[in-house]
Amino acid sequence: MNAIRMVEPGKPLELQRIPIPSAGEEDVLVRVRAAGICHSDAHYRAGRSSMGRLPITLGHEVAGEVEWVGAQVMNVKAGDRVCVHYNISCGDCDYCRTGKEQFCTTVRMIGHHIDGGYAEYIAVPARNALSLPDEILFEEGAILMCASATALHALRKGRLKADETVAVFGLGGLGLSAIQLAKALGAVEVYAVDIKQDKLELASEYGAIPVDASRVEAAQEIRTLTGGKGVDVALEMIGLPVTMKQTIESLGVLGRAVIVGLSQIPLEIHPYYTLIGCEAEIIGSNDHLLEELPLLIDMARRKILDTSRVVSQTFPLDAGRINQRLDDLENFTDDVRAVIVQ
Ligand SMILES: [Zn+2]
Ligand SMILES: [Zn+2]
Repeated sequence: MNAIRMVEPGKPLELQRIPIPSAGEEDVLVRVRAAGICHSDAHYRAGRSSMGRLPITLGHEVAGEVEWVGAQVMNVKAGDRVCVHYNISCGDCDYCRTGKEQFCTTVRMIGHHIDGGYAEYIAVPARNALSLPDEILFEEGAILMCASATALHALRKGRLKADETVAVFGLGGLGLSAIQLAKALGAVEVYAVDIKQDKLELASEYGAIPVDASRVEAAQEIRTLTGGKGVDVALEMIGLPVTMKQTIESLGVLGRAVIVGLSQIPLEIHPYYTLIGCEAEIIGSNDHLLEELPLLIDMARRKILDTSRVVSQTFPLDAGRINQRLDDLENFTDDVRAVIVQ
């Protein structure tokens, strides 16, 4: 089969002819129909993250049709439309058995540690294949598996309840998903913070109250808009110390700040005013769980979560096009999504 593979860090991906992967008794072989091109893939290609092996087929946002199932597989059958959960965990360690499988000591990510979806076929354990309803296009199913899933996990980590208020800092794919999911989970008001006009406009179309951080101090503005109270849950999806600080400062009493954006820079806070006095919490959120995906897929099926405007570009399994797209992701930080369809 054809696969677009990373052969050497810092070099363009290459088309290689490799065998169709073999699948075991508990696995499924999926004919890939859509594979999202993610910002992480640009980091992988550049050599900024250690890969499980080389050469490796990239692509962790995958949807397709089941081609073949192993003898033990009950949850899906040949011909089913599926999307693929990218973390393959052992299912057996203490973390896996207690629903915290992202900490599985042997967790492997497709397209990072093992071959992924920039290929005609992928083999994964059957439990990683989730039914994709007919109402959701393959390319939308593929991108649900990354940013939207991570946004849902962050809201769950923030223990968002109905009638609470939310602030979302950063309106890329994560943030725009988070706004819609927060509304679906019953948030009464969602404040959307960014400095880009088009993103703020899209956020208000999804029912959020835009806060233009290029004109106002965001935390202060949110405090004013909430009558001095602050919000119950605030999500940081950018990865900058300044927005992390604002996220925490926008909280009301018993508020929860959920940090999703990646940063290695130390964060300075004032413990009494920001945490102790109002019993606020700062929570880290990383990736998502298999068990969260059926709810997410159902929200997309019912159009509560609109992914139709996230996919902006599709093209075939072509090394030149994929490398070009990864170059674009290296040069700009736009969150418009390109998806390989075949
Ligand atoms: Zn991704
Ligand atoms: Zn495990």
